[in-house]
Amino acid sequence: MTSQQVGLHPKPGEAFLGMPTFTKAAHIALADDQLRRNLGHATHTIRDKRKRVVGELEDWQDLRSTAAAIKDNTLANLDRHLEQFEAAATAAGATVHWAADAAEACKIGIEIAQRHRATDVIKVKSMATQEIGLNEELEKNGIHAWETDLAELIVQLGGDTPSHFLVPAIHRNRDEIRQIFADKMGEVGRPAPADLTDEPRRLAEAARLHLREKFLAGKVAFSGANFAIAETGTLVVLESEGNGRMCLTLPDVLVSVVGIEKLLPTFADLEVFLQVLPRSSTAERMNPYTTMWTGVTEGDGPQEVHIILLDNGRTRALADTTGRQALRCIRCSACLNVCPVYERVGGHAYGSVYPGPIGAILNPLLHGVSEPHDAALPYASSLCGACYEACPVKIDIPSVLVEQRAEVIEDRAERGGPNAEALAMRIAAWTFADHRRLERAQRLAGRVGPAAKYVRRLPGMLGGWTQSRDLPPVPRESFHQWWERTRAAGKEGGR
Ligand code: SF4
Repeated sequence: MTSQQVGLHPKPGEAFLGMPTFTKAAHIALADDQLRRNLGHATHTIRDKRKRVVGELEDWQDLRSTAAAIKDNTLANLDRHLEQFEAAATAAGATVHWAADAAEACKIGIEIAQRHRATDVIKVKSMATQEIGLNEELEKNGIHAWETDLAELIVQLGGDTPSHFLVPAIHRNRDEIRQIFADKMGEVGRPAPADLTDEPRRLAEAARLHLREKFLAGKVAFSGANFAIAETGTLVVLESEGNGRMCLTLPDVLVSVVGIEKLLPTFADLEVFLQVLPRSSTAERMNPYTTMWTGVTEGDGPQEVHIILLDNGRTRALADTTGRQALRCIRCSACLNVCPVYERVGGHAYGSVYPGPIGAILNPLLHGVSEPHDAALPYASSLCGACYEACPVKIDIPSVLVEQRAEVIEDRAERGGPNAEALAMRIAAWTFADHRRLERAQRLAGRVGPAAKYVRRLPGMLGGWTQSRDLPPVPRESFHQWWERTRAAGKEGGR
């Protein structure tokens, strides 16, 4: 049975709603052998390639530090940069909107589409539009949104949600993709060829023909942006297939939903990110398609350009002194590809459009830790530190996770909920505070400990810890006791 069959995949736009928490979802995902094979193969391939191209740059560590410093400085003066961006984009002919949350951002986007009587809109792959559930809100208003990125198309036709930033259909193999195309393309446009095989070339050709009709019919397009340049009001989109450029240039109206953390102060800053992002994400030295646009250019490209600047929890994250570094994230997905937890459970287990190590810290930062789904995420990590090593903007994800675990405990304590962990910690603190108490506890544990070499299962809630590991039993005699015994008997070094 697959994780999809047991309903692990969230419905598009309904991340978290009706989803099990990470702890339960991970168990379901781990039982899906096909999912683990697909993920293991894909993440190993990408991370090996990334390691090779990153290793080519002698100044890689300097680039990482520079990228982190640029982002930190921008975040420290975000209000000023946002106002500068708004003024520059407006002067260039764009209309800038401000959205405090997902509902406001969707409302603005829907009104623009309705004003142009659009019943179909095309889309560039964008996490911000997924975050606000734009497709589903458009659909509720009778407007069909068509994804044009190949992997997003697979996800959309499969009635699925993305499982990875860069490779949203990472959990699908070629045969599954062929089946989705054969079954679904005809329902929403040009059908797949009757003799479609699972050859990548044939699959890409089927998608290209299907999408061409969408590109030519779309009068309104929606996108996100990788970067927004404050000094000029320019938006920047990086992509690999060229579909994005078609969406950004062919339609009459372009609406871009941009998280407020995407700002960079100057064009010169872009130079650093155009080096670190492609190498970290697709393991390419240079990005295949980089599209930049500044407002409106008469007679060329969309003649109506809207930019929706999205908060949706970002100022909340900015107020968190340890966690705000997560806003440096450039969504390269390098941390997902090296994470041993992500590799085994995939993106859906995180119950959010932001999966993997960055999702584990970003969701609690954006929403707080009071909700069970968010509270479970800081524990979705082995704290091995591989994500920090891979991150091109040096986000110290393990430190933020540890901080958030403490927040979860505090939040539970404040709300008076069951808090076995806090109780255990209080008992441990009391015991460790006095050496006599510690010795008594050791003697007691040594006496009641089993004779077996390892404790295979702890009782009650502690059982979670021994579910996948063995615990060495407490020795019957502490070092202190052994020392006293052997020294008193004049047998130092004896046993
Ligand atoms: S946290 Fe770092 S490694 Fe992970 S997606 Fe963001 S920028 Fe990339």
